[in-house]
Amino acid sequence: MNEFKEILRETEISANSTFDVSSIRNDFPILQTLVRGKPLIYLDNAATTQKPQAVIDKITDYYTSGNSNIHRGVHLLSQKATKEYEDSRKTIQQFIGAAHPEEIIFTRGTTESINLIASAWGRQNIGPGDEIIISHMEHHSNIVPWQMLCKEKGAGLRIIPINDDGELIYDEYLRLINEKTKLVSVVHVSNSLGTVNPVKDIIREAHKYNIPVIVDGAQSIQHLEVDVKDLDCDFFAFSGHKIYGPTGIGVLYGKKQFLEEMPPYQGGGDMIASVSFEDTTFNELPYKFEAGTPNIAGAIALAEAVKYLNNIGIARIAKYESGLLDYAIDAIGPVSGIRLIGTARNKSSTCSFVLDGVHPHDIGTMLDVDGIAVRTGHHCTEPVMKRYGVPATTRASIAFYNTKEEINVLVKSIEKVIKMFS
Ligand code: PMP
Repeated sequence: MNEFKEILRETEISANSTFDVSSIRNDFPILQTLVRGKPLIYLDNAATTQKPQAVIDKITDYYTSGNSNIHRGVHLLSQKATKEYEDSRKTIQQFIGAAHPEEIIFTRGTTESINLIASAWGRQNIGPGDEIIISHMEHHSNIVPWQMLCKEKGAGLRIIPINDDGELIYDEYLRLINEKTKLVSVVHVSNSLGTVNPVKDIIREAHKYNIPVIVDGAQSIQHLEVDVKDLDCDFFAFSGHKIYGPTGIGVLYGKKQFLEEMPPYQGGGDMIASVSFEDTTFNELPYKFEAGTPNIAGAIALAEAVKYLNNIGIARIAKYESGLLDYAIDAIGPVSGIRLIGTARNKSSTCSFVLDGVHPHDIGTMLDVDGIAVRTGHHCTEPVMKRYGVPATTRASIAFYNTKEEINVLVKSIEKVIKMFS
């Protein structure tokens, strides 16, 4: 434990005065955990992030003193919960620069947000012979809903290829756009390669032909400044749990004009204006897309996470993380037998690698012995694995509470794995 305290003190000294990592770490109680007697080194942030005390407290406070169902109650608790829930929508709106609060739809997460678009917008707007463009580096949740829709409608999926560094081949994207293209849906930051895609250019190009664009922001919202008005994306999806909020809550941003024209996604309470056995009229935005009792505590805690990040500043977080990622790549890359998967010029958060002759699951298991949490597997991006001819990778993904010293421990641990298997 003393060794770890020493590490933290060093970090404090090495951190620039405006970014005090050790004080940030104190906000995340789980980071004090010992794993197999070793201080937890949590490098699985692309799978899910840890929660600051402020978020944990918010959930406890809500259930301790604020729990009530929202929107239709006349009693005080219901009014209070409704206000907090709707204020949370406004916090998210401001955070991503949306024009209107009703452009923020609360969902279960990125997966549900994309399925909502595929189901509501897709069924109405995609027909036989139409084409949907996605990229080779999409998460399964930005592949499968479109594949299902294309099968149902007799439409086709077109794939923007990637180069050996894991960057989109932009000219191929331009070549794929044609009069049959009805939609482009791309990931902002790849969860398995770390590539930051030029989504603003992709959107501008598609808009020349009035093609709407969805951005999967599951891995960008927590690392980069996102302004949906500046990007001019038509939809933007993200998950609460990847941005230091709870699981089971996420966001779909959609431009009002699109959301207005889309039919509801699910039917039930709250999404209606009036119901008879003959017919139903639907509620206005955003409620049209929020059938049933939502994850009230989740939305409120997500807003708390956003406030917590705003207090630190996403720009400062991005700068710190970028330096740390460079450090990790420079430290891991040269280790004998390591092959980095994803060497794009513009990367965020993620360092994926394979090791000659050692299966990633064995690496992950051995790192766990040293208290290091990484992810091994295909990361829900099987086409990416196929592209690189590997079954799986080991992925270390960083957050702003990670330190260079933790990366040093990771490298030492990888070297131990190499020694063990050689
Ligand atoms: N897209 C990307 C790029 C992701 O990394 C993830 C989660 N790994 C998802 C979509 C799906 O997110 P969720 O499971 O939270 O719905």
